[in-house]
This record gives sequence, C-alpha cells and structure tokens, in this order.
Amino acid sequence: MSTQLILLGAPGSGKGTQAARLVSELGYNHISTGDLLRNEIAKGSELGQKVQGIMTRGELVDDATVLELLNANCDLSSGSYIFDGFPRNIDQAKSLDDVVVKDADHMALYFDIDLDALAQRLVNRRTCEGCGEIYNLLSKAPKTEGVCDKCGEAKLKQRKDDNEESVMTRLDVFKSTIGPVIEYYEGKGALKRIDASAGSEEVFEEVKKTVK
Ligand code: AMP
Repeated sequence: MSTQLILLGAPGSGKGTQAARLVSELGYNHISTGDLLRNEIAKGSELGQKVQGIMTRGELVDDATVLELLNANCDLSSGSYIFDGFPRNIDQAKSLDDVVVKDADHMALYFDIDLDALAQRLVNRRTCEGCGEIYNLLSKAPKTEGVCDKCGEAKLKQRKDDNEESVMTRLDVFKSTIGPVIEYYEGKGALKRIDASAGSEEVFEEVKKTVK
C-alpha cells in the first residue's frame, strides 16, 4: 500500500468518517487540515488566533498558511497518507503535487452527494472531543445524550462552524471552488467517484474496493 489518497467532497459528505475507517482498518496515516487548524486554535497559538474568525464564519484560510501547516505535519517516507480537507481549490491541488506528493503514486476520491442534503447533516453533527468519533443526531445518535458510545466520555460537542449561517457559507465556498479541482484530477486519470449518499458501511465497502 503506497498510494497517497486525496479525499475530495463537500463538508458533511462523510470524508472524515471514511478517513477514520481507512486509518483503523487499512493503516493509513490521516492528515486533516481542519483538525490541524482547530488544534492551533485550541493551543491558542498565534496562527490559531489568526484563523479562528475565518473558520467560525466558514470561509477558507489562506493557501500559504494551510500548505505550511500541512507540509510540517506529514512525511511521506513514513507511509501512505490520507489527505482530508486539502486541496480545497485548484492552487492547493497544484501545490500538493509540487510540494508534498511530488512523484508518489496518488488517487483522488470524490465523495459525490446531493449538496442540498448536506446542510441538515451538518447542523446535526456532533463530534467527540475525546476520541474524534462522529455522530449525527438524526441518523447516528449516541445511546446516551452527549456521551460518546465509543470512549464513554461526555464530550460530544457541536463544531463552532456547524451552525446554519457558517454551513451555508461553507457549502457556497465548496460549490465555487471544487469544479477545477475535480477536472484537474480527472485530467490526470487519478479521479475515482464514490457514491456518498449511501450509509457509511456501504460507502466504506465501495471505498475499500476502489483503493485496493
Ligand atoms: P474541515 O474540518 O475540513 O471542514 O475544515 C474546517 C475549516 O477549516 C474550513 O471551513 C476552513 O475554514 C478551514 N480549512 C480546512 N482545510 C482548509 C484548506 N485546505 N484551505 C483553507 N481552509 C481550510
């Protein structure tokens, strides 16, 4: 397994959930630029303070900042990575090739889903701050309200940017930036489409078949 996987898809399309399964079952390293940025905010670093407002509003952080953070946190010599949340636009896609992936074998998976269904999914999403498990109050509610089924901690939280206004901004940003990214990977013959409208088990089966 030496293919680098690039996950493309709208916010709420299930990239993070599938990435977690790929890590635990197939042993990939996971790098999520959203997680790296949230970590900077939690640490209260200068970078975190700079990006906090931008992220809460659902806008994109500037390319140079995200690329630097990504590059500092991955080392392809340590195995295959899943890139989750990067690239978000065509310039980032080209930078990922030039700076990080270079001539390594890679594949982009596009989590294809009707964007109109996503706003509901996102406002109902809850994430465990203990172990990262992702829930949905409508389709995958925890057994006890606010408590993670997986690690047992009462740390299920709503992300600051999973409110209605930020969700609309994030979906608009996605719609206006993703087209050229998809064309870019399609042009290289490196794009695979995944039907992300199915349940997470079915989606995972399709992902596994595609990457093997
Ligand atoms: P995510 O966890 O991938 O949904 O990302 C949450 C937020 O982090 C986004 O709405 C952006 O504000 C920021 N972000 C994450 N990845 C990127 C990226 N590749 N480029 C710019 N901003 C990003």
